Amino acid sequence: EAMPTETEIQQALQKAHQQFRGTKEGKNADYIPYLATVNPNLFGLALVTVEGKVYTVGDATSPFPIESLSKPFTLARLMDEVGAKKVEDKIGVDATGQPFNSIVAIEMNEDHRAGNPLVNAGAITSVSMIPAATPEARWKKLSDNFNDFAGADLPVNQEVYKSETETNTRNQSISALLDSYKVLGSPREQALDLYTRQCSVNVTATQLATMGATLANGGTNPVTGKKVVSPDTARRTLALMATNGLYESTGEWLYQAGVPAKSGVGGGIVAVVPGRYAIAAFSPPLDKAGNSVRSQRAISQVVNSLGDNLYAAT
Ligand code: GLN
Repeated sequence: EAMPTETEIQQALQKAHQQFRGTKEGKNADYIPYLATVNPNLFGLALVTVEGKVYTVGDATSPFPIESLSKPFTLARLMDEVGAKKVEDKIGVDATGQPFNSIVAIEMNEDHRAGNPLVNAGAITSVSMIPAATPEARWKKLSDNFNDFAGADLPVNQEVYKSETETNTRNQSISALLDSYKVLGSPREQALDLYTRQCSVNVTATQLATMGATLANGGTNPVTGKKVVSPDTARRTLALMATNGLYESTGEWLYQAGVPAKSGVGGGIVAVVPGRYAIAAFSPPLDKAGNSVRSQRAISQVVNSLGDNLYAAT
């Protein structure tokens, strides 16, 4: 099918922004104190094509914490470096169907692995498995990887990092449990610290859409031309987003929008149409599962109106 025209894309973004900016449902995350203080009216959309064309509307250049949106990109780095088999064996690649911070999912898993790389337990395991001699070297790999996906230098939001470090008792329990089952690749305090730091990276909707467009483009950043991961890795990462990208409401998301996506509790969501484009949205108020309400509605509408629901025959 032909790509939508520039006018069609711009109009679809504007229409969705207009339609959903007045939506009042949802509530900022507050279990991370910093996130409760972010302006809930912020709302931005960005779409980046595999040709590297960028479209935006609203607050597309406002930085926000990447949070769980870090997970697929670190997973992709890990897969590219150690191979998909290791991820399949040590973490698992099936849907958990559980909330992102589930402890039950670890207990229920036959081998007491995380079960999936896109929930907290799986992401802490992913970080712990990135090959590196020191925690500093491991952090540099994680950070360089985000920057390569985004084609920009993404800074750590120190306030968020501090706020999360002071309050992440739940994630401490998750890492301790994983450690007790001996599934972590490096010491648990280190893994949790680097995971917390990667969640605190600031990103804008435009940068997030570029990160998604790199996956849409088979692992090569369409704006900078840099090959970040292999086409196999990009494909596998998108499949995992389709089955576990929005936690326990992933099925409902796929049913509505028909494209793989990933959310974060900072209010960002990125959705990918393989071979065509990625669209990112940012708006802080979340539903019960931790997914931005405005971002879900806007992305779903744009993708469907542009004829890009992957399950539609035409
Ligand atoms: N840093 C957050 C946490 O670990 C990320 C969760 C999310 O975005 N769903 O709880």
